[in-house]
Amino acid sequence: MRTLLHNARVLTMDNEFHEHLQGWVVVEENNILAVGKGEVPDTHKTADEVIDLNCDLIMPGMINTHCHMSMTLFRGLGEDVDNRLFKYILPLEKEAITADVVRVGARLASLEMMLGGVTTVADMYYFEQEVGRVLDQAGMRGVVGQTLADFDPPDHSTFDEGFALVDDLREEFRDNDRITASIAPHAPYSTGPEIMARVARYVADHPEVKIQMHLAEMKTEMEWCAKHHNMRPVQLADSTGILRPGAIMAHCLELNAAEIELLAERGITVAHNARSNAKAGRGIAPVAAMRESSIPVGLASDGPMSGNTLDIFAQFAPASMFAKLLGKSRKCLPAREVVLMATLEAAKVLGLDDKVGSIEVGKCADLIRVSLDAPRINPIYDIYAALVFSACAGDVSDVMINGKWVVRDRLSQTLEQEQVLSEFQQVAHQFKTKIIEIDANRNWSAV
Ligand SMILES: [Zn+2]
Repeated sequence: MRTLLHNARVLTMDNEFHEHLQGWVVVEENNILAVGKGEVPDTHKTADEVIDLNCDLIMPGMINTHCHMSMTLFRGLGEDVDNRLFKYILPLEKEAITADVVRVGARLASLEMMLGGVTTVADMYYFEQEVGRVLDQAGMRGVVGQTLADFDPPDHSTFDEGFALVDDLREEFRDNDRITASIAPHAPYSTGPEIMARVARYVADHPEVKIQMHLAEMKTEMEWCAKHHNMRPVQLADSTGILRPGAIMAHCLELNAAEIELLAERGITVAHNARSNAKAGRGIAPVAAMRESSIPVGLASDGPMSGNTLDIFAQFAPASMFAKLLGKSRKCLPAREVVLMATLEAAKVLGLDDKVGSIEVGKCADLIRVSLDAPRINPIYDIYAALVFSACAGDVSDVMINGKWVVRDRLSQTLEQEQVLSEFQQVAHQFKTKIIEIDANRNWSAV
């Protein structure tokens, strides 16, 4: 199967930031066969499918480097409440999260992300096998992390059981070229040093398994680490050996200069959740300093309870603005760098940059078509600024992953939208009943 996309504006996001105004892309089976500009060479003119893009933009699919997809059911719950993790999330997860609920929540999340041009996601949650299956069915690419935690989570009551779930995940997706199994200790305070050390040993034995963890995210984590171990989170994590090359650390807000250098030395990559950090009032991650130390930093939505939307376009402006606020200059984190953090740099964060993140010959064909016709986008003097400050998820019309169209003309080709929504509404209704029960039985003053 060969597809020719022509008469397009092609934003490659390769290392030289090549952009082709009158561009074309040839896809053969799963891969990008050729990219160019001007007249399409005769050798590429014949294809099974020839599509005139009518000057729309073709760019690499967006990569969401940190998510909890199934928490779509929690979206909009407990807004404007402090210490939500212990007040709402953990009790609700214990009471209401089952494999079925995870599947239904993940299906809605997949649909939302695909329609918004997200082609790859790094997820961490419970019953993660279900999430992997949903992503596989949707045709998406994913790094799926089984979460391990000591707060009596819904799918394991001991860490031995949790590690067994990671084994199952690894086994199920061993030969899957789009879904990668990952291990996701929740955070230092919810696993402790012994379990972090055990994760490090597990990954030494299974180097194909990536680590995902929340790190240096908030004041309560700093206090816990100081109180119980007389250390800062990065120091504690490092003492366990978990800071292995390629491990993905989410948030990384509470870092000093020495810790940034240490993370760089260890080969850590970072998922930056600008919106969710800001919504929680936590602060601004030192993105510029991390990137100056050669730490790859990718944009991320975080879970929909924390950031509401799974749309990566919605991360663009906040990521840019917060970096400018922190650096007190308009020059900080230029728009081109922001787009890079959603594409090639995000692929580096997930260790997938040999496969995706840019439109280059030989890479997997993960592409999105973005209409630039909306009045709010025009005129376009700088395509990166147009994407960061003016475009939105609704401008994405078509999405190809691994050479297959998963969205055509704003309609999912792999998930039946009405069915996904109706099953989600049913589960959300039951979930709401559960929330009312929990709220009614809770002694809030004791929390
Ligand atoms: Zn998170």
